[in-house]
Amino acid sequence: MTITYAVFFFIFGLVFGSFFNVVGLRVPKQESIAFPPSHCTNCDRRLTAIDLVPVLSFLFLRGKCRTCGSKIHWVYPLMEFATGVLFAASFLIFGFSAELVIAILFVSLLVIITVSDIAYMLIPDKVLLPFAVVLLVLRFVIPLDPWWNSLVGAVVGFLILFLIAIVSKGGMGGGDIKLFFVIGLVVGLSGSLLTLFFASFIGAIAGIIQLRIRKQGRKTPVPFGPSIAAAAIIVYFWGDAVLGWYFGILS
Ligand SMILES: [Zn+2]
Repeated sequence: MTITYAVFFFIFGLVFGSFFNVVGLRVPKQESIAFPPSHCTNCDRRLTAIDLVPVLSFLFLRGKCRTCGSKIHWVYPLMEFATGVLFAASFLIFGFSAELVIAILFVSLLVIITVSDIAYMLIPDKVLLPFAVVLLVLRFVIPLDPWWNSLVGAVVGFLILFLIAIVSKGGMGGGDIKLFFVIGLVVGLSGSLLTLFFASFIGAIAGIIQLRIRKQGRKTPVPFGPSIAAAAIIVYFWGDAVLGWYFGILS
């Protein structure tokens, strides 16, 4: 039965991932997420059901628009697939518990900001703020142990990134700083610090890969949001295991 539910969550995630692509791409441009309906950004043809099946349409159409043949970015199907996997993982890790609500919301936020940060180097307040408010309220109803851990994690995470932004003179965007507030709310103080540690590591690797692939100069900025999102998910799902292993080695 667990597997059936996990598959259900996966499919549920695929569909929502498709919606998160739209939110991540349209909200920063102040566009409505409902209108106009999905269309090819090149030839403006309105997409029909065949074009809109998550992941499968991309594979079936070999990543091209049916009418004009322009390339569809691989980020879209990747984000749909990632959302499916993360929704299923949320269920497998937390089961039908109250924390599952936080997990689904947290994963959703991280997917949306990854899309907008890759597309525009921007993490929009219009996305961050509603998630921050809802997660803040939920963390009082479904608290960490001790209950103030989430608030301390949020404030400390925010302040550390704020300091890094000042020291690095713009190396860190305002969106990254605010995002860390929300991450701290969800994962608490140790989780927040561990996320920063992993994010720096993932960000460094992503930077090296990007340099190799695109042969861009060092000046080309790499969005940090996707690295933070990946780190936050690792920590939220497996942070206790990582910390337990680490302190196990020390003792
Ligand atoms: Zn087209």
